[in-house]
Amino acid sequence: MDAKPPVKPLLHPIANVKRAINKGEIWSNEVRETMAYFGINNQWATFYLISEAVNLEASMLIDADDFCYVDWGSVSKVGLNPPEGATIPFQVWTHTHPRGDAYWSMTDKNSLAIASAVGLISKAIVLGRGEMKIANWIKQGAEEPIQTTGPLSHWTEEKIVKNIITNKNWLDGVEE
Ligand SMILES: [Zn+2]
Repeated sequence: MDAKPPVKPLLHPIANVKRAINKGEIWSNEVRETMAYFGINNQWATFYLISEAVNLEASMLIDADDFCYVDWGSVSKVGLNPPEGATIPFQVWTHTHPRGDAYWSMTDKNSLAIASAVGLISKAIVLGRGEMKIANWIKQGAEEPIQTTGPLSHWTEEKIVKNIITNKNWLDGVEE
């Protein structure tokens, strides 16, 4: 895997973000720096809306030094291939299921299990249609784990957070 430099969190003007998305420039600074900004500020609903607008899975890793790594697609491997130069453990690994549900898929559980075995990620978030599911990694084992045995027993099973999107029109109605 290529070395991926961290993305600087920066809130670009919404019109510029929308223009870049409409032109398919999903790797542009306008798109990824804005996503990093929303992620590092815990504004995951808006992070999700960008992913939904692009209609691709997005992922973000925040490393131990607050460096942000924003990626598109191939989400299944994100938890397993920490970007070169990143400091572990990652504070949070977030990824999206655009227009899908917020749940841990088999692939996600596999990533969580492998991450758990090496203590790679402290917290995981999956975002679906207006919903968010979180898991926290507990070194000594979770009281209510995703699975009672094996590496998934360190990840907490949390209730889905519903209706996270309060700014649904964030990307709409922007003059281009
Ligand atoms: Zn997933």
